[in-house]
Amino acid sequence: MSIALKKLIDTVEQTLKPWLFKDYAPNGLQVEGRSEIKKIVSGVTACKALLDGAIAADADAILVHHGYFWRGENACLTGMKRRRIGQLIKHDISLIAYHLPLDAHSDLGNNACLGRLLGFDITGGMDADVLTSIGLTGQLEKPLSLKSLGERIQQVLGRTPLLIEGGSHEIKTVAWCTGGAQGYIEKAFALDVDAYISGEISEQTTHFARENGIHYIAAGHHATERYGVQALGEWLVTTLGVEHQFIDIDNPA
Ligand SMILES: [Zn+2]
Repeated sequence: MSIALKKLIDTVEQTLKPWLFKDYAPNGLQVEGRSEIKKIVSGVTACKALLDGAIAADADAILVHHGYFWRGENACLTGMKRRRIGQLIKHDISLIAYHLPLDAHSDLGNNACLGRLLGFDITGGMDADVLTSIGLTGQLEKPLSLKSLGERIQQVLGRTPLLIEGGSHEIKTVAWCTGGAQGYIEKAFALDVDAYISGEISEQTTHFARENGIHYIAAGHHATERYGVQALGEWLVTTLGVEHQFIDIDNPA
């Protein structure tokens, strides 16, 4: 069955509430294609390989976490950006992107999904306002060593995480924030958790973890952000009856 593009966007926005967030890129419809949507392809990033996959899958719209038009980037449609957007327009396919609202949503969000997958009991947000909090805090059902938690993450995400030891303590409490949120380790430390998990790592993250006695796990930017967009796609299948297919474009980062 097909649904009007406008109705699809309205339905998503009623649940993701993008107006609550100050974001680095526009949320919602970024490139407008045909007005009726039967099939959605989702993916983490609107790279060329995902566009090719969506065209081959006969998609009417592409739903992503990382879209286009980031704050501070060159706004001109040249080079890689021209090729990507040109391909979308040529095939009359819409690009729909949700960044922070899709990190934060309490059920469909990247952080909620990752917490569930890793078996954490969610206890709150890393920020005071849990509705817009980008990271979450939680508890493990029983204490684990850093190595054992690393093995669980490896199993669930299919990618070997980088483990930085912040001491010899076991892990009972955790904070996590998917993607490139290694800088939030200071926030996690202030929350007094045993370990903090994000996607990427910076040089100084290691020293912060070691000197402040908090374990740090870099579990992969792509690997930790695969789940929100899939959950949203599946939610649209049950809510609006559209077809949905997730296409994973592997990325070791
Ligand atoms: Zn990201």
